Amino acid sequence: MSDGRFHSGQEMAKEFKVSRATVFNILQMAEELDVRIHAVRGKGYKLATPLSWLDTQALESFMSDSGFGYAIKAVEQTYSTNTSLTEAALEGAPHRTVLYADYQHAGRGRRGRTWLSPLGGGLTFSVLWRFDRGLDQLSGLSIVVGMALARALAKLCPLPVKVKWPNDVLAGYRKLAGILVEVQGEISGPSFAVIGIGINEHLSKFHRQEIDQAVIDLAEMGVQITRAELLNGILSELALTMETFEQDGLKNILADWPNWHAHEERLVVLRTPDGSSHTGKASGLDVAGNLLLTSPNGEIRKFSTGEVSLRPVARK
Ligand code: ATP
Repeated sequence: MSDGRFHSGQEMAKEFKVSRATVFNILQMAEELDVRIHAVRGKGYKLATPLSWLDTQALESFMSDSGFGYAIKAVEQTYSTNTSLTEAALEGAPHRTVLYADYQHAGRGRRGRTWLSPLGGGLTFSVLWRFDRGLDQLSGLSIVVGMALARALAKLCPLPVKVKWPNDVLAGYRKLAGILVEVQGEISGPSFAVIGIGINEHLSKFHRQEIDQAVIDLAEMGVQITRAELLNGILSELALTMETFEQDGLKNILADWPNWHAHEERLVVLRTPDGSSHTGKASGLDVAGNLLLTSPNGEIRKFSTGEVSLRPVARK
């Protein structure tokens, strides 16, 4: 049904050599996975919105050409690619393992929040990155990943692509992609990071209503790209940016930050988990990637990436 046209139950039963009842049951299962299907008497069934799938062979061939050394594992479904890949990492999965899933039952955001990714409507994957250095050397890592993703997506999108500190990627000031970086290991090494990335490709109106902030997807911007091309572009940019981070730390990222931060020099409010909020002007980053906030009385305070949510202050 990926061609977006109507197909009759009879035609599908014949194609897959199953009974029409089986076809009917499978279509019902798809609806349980939030895939919307239009059924029209006399015409058959049609997808309400197109679905994208990953062509793993195409991806493998892009990856072997680019030589970044990723090992790709693609599965149909998992609870959370970050959770599964962390388990694999603890069992010895190699550096640069990528776990891609067509469907995540329980995609995670920061602080126990959820990442909504309906089947076929968003690309979700995680990357394992191992470091010789320790956790004490990884501060700012989520910003590094945010910048890599923004650089990759900016090449595709007609709207301005920016990072909202620490690492949401926005297009036209709406959220296009989310990142969850989880680190484990020794304070002074070795350590590893599991970098989870979710990108909206085609969200239905129904799914958008479930998200409590402004969202956007690639389809809405007219971006036409296969999943293999999209994943290849992101993994390539990620490898280059991570390699620079490993060599030079945050130097390059800090220099670029003012051009990429969605709310630089603007009034923002930072909400902390204890319920307190701090308003001020976003004034760049310190050497460790902490956000500097200039309060109305000129005092500069810094906030680390862990627990804080940033929102722009609405301009009247
Ligand atoms: P904040 O935006 O406050 O910094 P966060 O960094 O904790 O939040 P993430 O962990 O990146 O956010 O993602 C979880 C949040 O993103 C959810 O609480 C929801 O508001 C939003 N969200 C969930 N699914 C999507 C999606 N598919 N597209 C855009 N936003 C989403």
